[in-house]
Amino acid sequence: MRQKASLKLCARAGCPVMSKCDSATKRKLTCIEGGEHMGRLGCNCGAIMSSVNCPSENRIHVFSDSEVINALGTDRTKKLWDFYIVDRAYEYWYCTTCRRVHQIKVDSGVCVLRYKPIGKSDDQLGILGVSPDWRELYVITDVELDEAIERDFDTKLAEYLPRVRRRVMLSPDQQTAIVFDSITGIEVDRYVTESGNP
Ligand SMILES: [Zn+2]
Repeated sequence: MRQKASLKLCARAGCPVMSKCDSATKRKLTCIEGGEHMGRLGCNCGAIMSSVNCPSENRIHVFSDSEVINALGTDRTKKLWDFYIVDRAYEYWYCTTCRRVHQIKVDSGVCVLRYKPIGKSDDQLGILGVSPDWRELYVITDVELDEAIERDFDTKLAEYLPRVRRRVMLSPDQQTAIVFDSITGIEVDRYVTESGNP
């Protein structure tokens, strides 16, 4: 659990205030303004996603390649935790039932993009076949982040990222994201944006 570094963003979609994991119960996020935010979000499949637990199986953390490059460009020894806690404009929810990914704008709580898995393609080229104008996304699940911080709070960002067993590439129009096994380079999953009201 992350009580060692207690401050983190409140997980309720749209909440701008800071909160901390409740070190006593480890089960809820408590807003510093006094209220309890039981972060929940409904998925289109009917499942209810929750960030009440810490870590949450419904939360994933997505970082752009430029964010990572900028962070490491100024400090090669930057800690994973210090990179994670920076305020970001979007948060990402993952449905364990249908595997959709929801991109939520933090200040408004609005879902701006929704990705639906369509399964891997038959492309044999794997990550080598990805066009150079696609961008890499660094995707870490909340559970993975928690495990890494718990194992070693001083985990370095530069050392941790290569250990993640997936690489995600995003098309220039942001309509397609492909997940590759980081070791074999083989495609393991493919997501496309879903049209209609998020
Ligand atoms: Zn779902």
